[in-house]
Amino acid sequence: MDFRHRFLPWQAYTAFGAVFGVLGLLVPAGLLHDALFSVVSLSAAAATAVGARLHRPQRASAWWLLAAGLLCWALGDVSYAVCYDWLGWDAYPSVPDVFYVAAYPLIAAAMLRMARQARPGSDREGVIDAAILAVGFGMLSWTFLVRPALHTLPQDLPAGLVALAYPVGDVVVLAMLVRVFSAAGHGSRAFTLLAGAATAMLTADALWQAAEAYSTLDATWIDSVFVLSYVLWGAAALHPSMRRLSDPSPATRDEFSRLRLVVLTAASLLSPGTLGVELALGQPTQGWAVVISSSVLFVLVVARMSALLGRLREQTALLGDLARTDPLTGLLNRRSADAELERVRARARRDGVPLVVALLDLDHFKAFNDTRGHPAGDRLLVGASAAWRETLRGSGVQLARWGGEEFLAVSCGRAPEQVEQLLDRLRAVVPEGQTFSAGVARWDGQEDVAALVARADAALYAAKHAGRACTRTAHDPRERVSPGR
Ligand code: GH3
Ligand code: MG
Ligand code: MG
Repeated sequence: MDFRHRFLPWQAYTAFGAVFGVLGLLVPAGLLHDALFSVVSLSAAAATAVGARLHRPQRASAWWLLAAGLLCWALGDVSYAVCYDWLGWDAYPSVPDVFYVAAYPLIAAAMLRMARQARPGSDREGVIDAAILAVGFGMLSWTFLVRPALHTLPQDLPAGLVALAYPVGDVVVLAMLVRVFSAAGHGSRAFTLLAGAATAMLTADALWQAAEAYSTLDATWIDSVFVLSYVLWGAAALHPSMRRLSDPSPATRDEFSRLRLVVLTAASLLSPGTLGVELALGQPTQGWAVVISSSVLFVLVVARMSALLGRLREQTALLGDLARTDPLTGLLNRRSADAELERVRARARRDGVPLVVALLDLDHFKAFNDTRGHPAGDRLLVGASAAWRETLRGSGVQLARWGGEEFLAVSCGRAPEQVEQLLDRLRAVVPEGQTFSAGVARWDGQEDVAALVARADAALYAAKHAGRACTRTAHDPRERVSPGR
């Protein structure tokens, strides 16, 4: 039977890990138990390296870092068995602690790299989320694990520092897991396995620390949680979807999901919650730890809020731009042209300056489309718009796309003759020898903008009738009614 076609590597590895793990747990504490346990532990590092080779993700460095971290951890397990179970040492801290403590920064660095690969540049919100969880769980760990454990340890500096390194390492790994979650999202199976591995590792670590702190706990079954984490690390690296784990996923950026909200809220409540538990149990409270962690959490939540507000402002500005401009040409669209007309009319009335509008319409553009194709027509609209915008730069004249191949120019402070001259300059820069006709009208000081544009349209119609490629100006209605004409 050819197993390659029946089992994928990650499934085969999971089966191997499960068998060895269960065997190891069934065997009573002793050298055989240690040997089986160490094999599974070493296999996680090996599987991670194999996964990085096998799947060749574009950015493999994170997985090599993870493999190095897991190797350190496995060497910790091996040396723990050798030093304590085989040689019978009882010193603390000792050789295994060096390996274990070295594993945390490597594993954390691997996850940080995954997060940064998925979202290069600054990820302020991801950093704040990670910090909120780190502070919340840090407080929990300090209260229930670190402080009680400190009493049971030898009273010297190395022992104290190493005892502190474990929970600090756990909190840092947790923070990095949150960063991967918020940067890369959680769509891939590899992420689920990785998150499971990290969670199992942190849980086992916390249980271990709890067993040290409260020596009444039975610690033997904690190995099974460690075994679970080893198998999950290896399975994550061997799963084909590991290639996609660090893919940038812009879709998750805007997803302030309910899950995230619940987790952040729960993490923020950990600090006051801890105080509540201490009060309820009649234990001595740690006022300062609560004051510090609650204050930091509060600042972080406010920072999170301001980051959200900043994003909201960014999106509002973006939506505003989208609503104002024509997507093809980037000119003002008709909606904003109407608003601009009203604004300029108010200004012309206030300052007593002339308001002149011009309607431009490309000549025989239907024929252009019919012979050259619609995409070529689109390109001409884009090219003409860009050339006109360049010509009008700094002139104060606003140009909008009024309809399909019709454009509206709004000028304040120029006489109609000056606008006609400006139109001649616009005519000269249209690509491909394309021409346009134009109708100009000056605001009579009374009419509404619709009436003004209607007169420009009538003038445009006259220009078309006069043979196209020319400009006609509407008569000023005030001149018609003035006596003597
Ligand atoms: P006239 O000189 O009388 O203005 O002739 P015309 O063919 O330009 O006039 P008409 O209003 O009959 O046709 C306008 C054409 O403009 C119709 C349509 O094919 C083209 N048009 C309108 N909007 C777009 C667009 O966004 N892209 C392209 N490629 N063509 C457009
Ligand atoms: Mg037209
Ligand atoms: Mg036309």
